[in-house]
Amino acid sequence: MSDILSINELNLSGKKVFIRCDFNVPMDEFLNITDDRRIRSAIPTIRYCLDNGCSVILASHLGRPKNGFEEKFSLKPVEKRLSRLLGRDIKFADDVIGQDAKKKASELKPGEVLMLENLRFEKGETKNDENLAKELASFAQIYINDAFGVCHRAHASVEAITKFFDDEHRAAGFLLQKEINFAQNLIKKPARPFVAVVGGSKVSGKLQALHNLLPRVDKLIIGGGMAFTFLKALGENIGNSLLEEDLIADALEILRKGKELGVKVYLPVDVVAAQTFSAESAVKYVSVQEIPSGWMGLDIGPASTRLFKEVLADAQTVWWNGPMGVFEMDKFSKGSIKISHAIVETHATTVVGGGDTADVVERAGDADEMTFISTGGGASLELIEGKELPGVKPLRKASFE
Ligand code: AMP
Repeated sequence: MSDILSINELNLSGKKVFIRCDFNVPMDEFLNITDDRRIRSAIPTIRYCLDNGCSVILASHLGRPKNGFEEKFSLKPVEKRLSRLLGRDIKFADDVIGQDAKKKASELKPGEVLMLENLRFEKGETKNDENLAKELASFAQIYINDAFGVCHRAHASVEAITKFFDDEHRAAGFLLQKEINFAQNLIKKPARPFVAVVGGSKVSGKLQALHNLLPRVDKLIIGGGMAFTFLKALGENIGNSLLEEDLIADALEILRKGKELGVKVYLPVDVVAAQTFSAESAVKYVSVQEIPSGWMGLDIGPASTRLFKEVLADAQTVWWNGPMGVFEMDKFSKGSIKISHAIVETHATTVVGGGDTADVVERAGDADEMTFISTGGGASLELIEGKELPGVKPLRKASFE
């Protein structure tokens, strides 16, 4: 049994339920939703409430509006998409806690769904304001958090609001439970060998995660831009590749700690190098010992891909966060795509975290074969760092503390 208050342990029958969702989806300049994964992920919890005869109030943020209402941050397009996905009408409030929201929330009948406007149109949301939280809480008898992507933020609809519901009236939705359980199992009882694959631009963003993972993994693969700070620490000439000079000492400390703990740490042995950070530039495949000065490594090379594939072959658990190169440009996306293929070819439990990495997996056509793809970048990293998330803490069962 999990130590998280779960939606399926509550008596929901016929109640009014407030669900904090994460509908923070990407949109193009015409306000078309370009990726609706987050909307689709919320559906099991919404349907469960409807099946239990509830009336459902949905709330989310979208983007970072500065000063109240702005058309481009309206949740209206999300309401349309969700309505289509659910196959039913959704009522929409033009404000968050204003007259329209209050009227529509109070008139809501069992089986009906109401979506509030963008929570961040209210300044108090990001300030964890208790008055805003109280107003939101007054709309419903039950509070469900299914917004993993914001659980690392103490915001009014995530943290302060939980104070207005007791343990019989607040819980995590299905998506949030899944996210927490995958991260916890990974940290507490991974099947071995456990291989962490870490990439992306900077060491600084993943330093804490590396420190927390090191005593828990059997092997650590480091790729992407962050690998160059490690290679530099080992004395390689990395040309103009990405470098965080002030973290060279930390990189060495991680390598030292890895040795001490018996963790096998793997770095790229070759790279795809270019003279400029652009899709048009000519490229060379070079070993890390031979990066010409003035050139920069923008992807891992074919020898590194083969090496990492070997390293992954016997894995039973894989956690992957961060691309192996500048995957946004086709020329530098091969390393990430091949590592994605190598990961799904294992017989391991495979968990992917971070928006960029999820995009790579999607582009590689491997999404359906990964065990779990996390919807929250920052939040999933903080769980792996071993932090208690402000949105999750109030949902832990008191008896487990
Ligand atoms: P992060 O947000 O730290 O996970 O970093 C993701 C970003 O890292 C992506 O936008 C990649 O383009 C970038 N990245 C990956 N490899 C490199 C590299 N070798 N040089 C520069 N940027 C990189």
